[in-house]
Amino acid sequence: VLLVLDQWPAWAFAVKRPHLTRGFARLLREGAWHTGRYPSAATLTAPGHALLGTGRAPAASGIVANEWYRRSVDRVLRSVEDPDGGTSARALRAPGLGDALAAAHPAALAVSISLKDRAAILPLGRAGTPIWYDRTTRSWRSTAAPAWLAEVDRRAPIAPRIAQVWRASDPARLAAASGGPDDAPGEVGEHGLGTTFPHDPARTPDPAEALTATPAGNEAVLDAGLAAITAAGLGADVTPDLLVLSLSAHDLIGHGWGQESWEMWDMTLRLDAALDHFLAELDTRVGRGRWALAATSDHGACPLPERGSGGRLWLDTIRDAANRAAATALGPGEWIAFARYPALYLNAAARARSARDQARAVTKIVYALRAIPGLARVERTADVAGSCEARGGADRALCLALDPAESGEVVYLPAAGWVLERRDERVATSHGSLHDYDRDVPLVLLAPGRDPARAEPATAPAESLVPMETVAALLAGWLGVPPPAALPLPEPQPGPPPAPGAGLAPP
Ligand SMILES: [Zn+2]
Repeated sequence: VLLVLDQWPAWAFAVKRPHLTRGFARLLREGAWHTGRYPSAATLTAPGHALLGTGRAPAASGIVANEWYRRSVDRVLRSVEDPDGGTSARALRAPGLGDALAAAHPAALAVSISLKDRAAILPLGRAGTPIWYDRTTRSWRSTAAPAWLAEVDRRAPIAPRIAQVWRASDPARLAAASGGPDDAPGEVGEHGLGTTFPHDPARTPDPAEALTATPAGNEAVLDAGLAAITAAGLGADVTPDLLVLSLSAHDLIGHGWGQESWEMWDMTLRLDAALDHFLAELDTRVGRGRWALAATSDHGACPLPERGSGGRLWLDTIRDAANRAAATALGPGEWIAFARYPALYLNAAARARSARDQARAVTKIVYALRAIPGLARVERTADVAGSCEARGGADRALCLALDPAESGEVVYLPAAGWVLERRDERVATSHGSLHDYDRDVPLVLLAPGRDPARAEPATAPAESLVPMETVAALLAGWLGVPPPAALPLPEPQPGPPPAPGAGLAPP
């Protein structure tokens, strides 16, 4: 089992850990507690899940962000969105854990469940069964649609959870643990759920979406995992099977209220109990000693700027400054296709200009962005992408986040403590920087053949950092199969004909 707590920073877990006595305590009693470090900047959900499954950073996985502008079709597509509207791992350029398992054992099962489609799909690669939450039908959905999916829906229906009101389990405890009020400065609430308890999805514009930012969202995924074990027969025979569960509500609650909030504390305490139940069910359904589990995350998060140093910066400010700068080289007009970090893309009209004009525009943009407080690194992608092995330190981390072909012409990252957000989609906190708070995550390993008899849970992680790009090979080793990196790269799938102006290479 690979259990991903989406947005689980090592620093935040260190604070909460002494209060966790149930499922988390069992993980730390039975497992080895490490801190994992992501090798690259752009610690976002899609690149992080791709790395967990493939062992490769964006420079080699091709998954450079959650969504990015594709020059070949002149559109922004999500990481698992095909140009024809389908949902798949087509953009993933490396084999994942599902592929590794299928190559060694065609009869093995690899099932991956999440509220987010990208989190379900990317760890597996092209083989296996990704299952995610379909907001429109309010049920579980899969590209593979195996016969047992209806059974998962019947055993772990998600629709009834939408009506659940999220109330603070123990306000006094939350106040003491968080050290602040329920409506601490910086909180915005997610999906219209408001800044203070109670949070009622029914009172939001989109209750089916609001569910994804409540503890019921985590419980839905854990329950669907247990239902899949029973319905598909995971772990039932001698062939190893893989179950990936990614808890997206863990991320959305962090985004809406911050890691330090009452909401994050309440959700974590509820998850402590839910994990206890989940692990006990693994013992019952799969059998004690017959399962192994790695618990980790796709990325960390920034502490609330209002609690420390740093600040907030609108992405619109960056886009506007970039366009004004481009206009000084290219003339009045719209020149930016997409500007959500880590990269900024020139549009087709700009790319239709001469190489010299484009280079001047990119230089102007870089200098304009470097003048904005709150940005740490602003670079021409052409200067910092490619040949990452030859680079060191922060330059290497920056390089590994970039794909020379897929990333935009300019890369930019927030300064320490700074949160970049959209004016029309406020967040309490975010992630994706070069800083340790985004790149360091817990990694708890309950290996096969472990001795579960240790009496006390660990109180601190091992000192040395584990490179997160080694986790895929480690899990493959547990499954007894060659690592995904040992497989041949997938054949690129033919795309649609290029859009006008798309043939120009980025500078
Ligand atoms: Zn996130």
